[in-house]
Amino acid sequence: MDKRFAGKVAIVTGGSRGIGEAIVRRLASEGARVYATYISNPERAKNIQDELTKDGQSVRFIQADVSNEQSVKELIDEVVKEVGRIDVLVNNAGITRDTLLMRMSETDWDDVLDTNLKGAFLTCKSVCRTMMSQRKGRIINIGSIVGINGNPGQANYCASKAGLIGLTKSLAKELSSRNILVNCIAPGFVETDMTDKLTEEQRAGFSTQIPLKRAAKSEEIASVVAFFVSDDSSYITGQVLCVDGGLAM
Ligand code: NAP
Repeated sequence: MDKRFAGKVAIVTGGSRGIGEAIVRRLASEGARVYATYISNPERAKNIQDELTKDGQSVRFIQADVSNEQSVKELIDEVVKEVGRIDVLVNNAGITRDTLLMRMSETDWDDVLDTNLKGAFLTCKSVCRTMMSQRKGRIINIGSIVGINGNPGQANYCASKAGLIGLTKSLAKELSSRNILVNCIAPGFVETDMTDKLTEEQRAGFSTQIPLKRAAKSEEIASVVAFFVSDDSSYITGQVLCVDGGLAM
């Protein structure tokens, strides 16, 4: 693959599985120096790191909890200390705690908002100074179409993803004068551990509603991240791009 991201430093949160892993693989294969995070899965993170390093790519996993300010600060400080710059931040780490609102606990609400929305706030805040002094940067937030359309049983998750859209647009405006572009990708239904939890009936229901009649592969989200990292998207900021097989139309 073309090394069009050679010399770029990228941070990908939640890079140890699913969509995040595909993003790590894609950016690294195009020459980026990738720092990825995991929280609970050190073995899996190590296996990916070893495999890609053996292949001559630059990937380093660091344990970090995006919902914790100190942990995020240590992550960003370590990257800046090691390489002195950050070109790309991909806020991908996310969780679900699905249940109907009537049964949703305060913890279900807080955990999801803390990881999916506060996590992105903390990482954006931490990378901002470095990107501003470089007068260059790309921030890509992984939202969801349910942040636009809503979904029963996911009030916490949908609220977090809707919040990410507001964060994306506000930061796009705040940071535009420093040439930092901020965009959001809103996937539909992607085959990962997160959607493994769905019943066969739920999956079949989803698939019939998707105009393209199938779930996305993680790589199909990663390729859109690569677009937002590349010079091909140099005049796009503050946008939400649905990558959903037409589901949200
Ligand atoms: P996944 O397979 O469940 O992977 C989640 C990743 O996030 C893992 O790498 C996990 O680390 C990490 N993580 C979880 N909590 C964290 C925390 N507090 N701090 C740092 N890392 C944390 O999820 P996915 O399906 O790939 O989803 C990735 C993103 O896409 C999420 O933001 C999700 O909301 C969004 N999305 C997914 C779909 C879909 O259909 N799958 C659709 C729309 C949007 P460990 O491996 O260490 O646990």
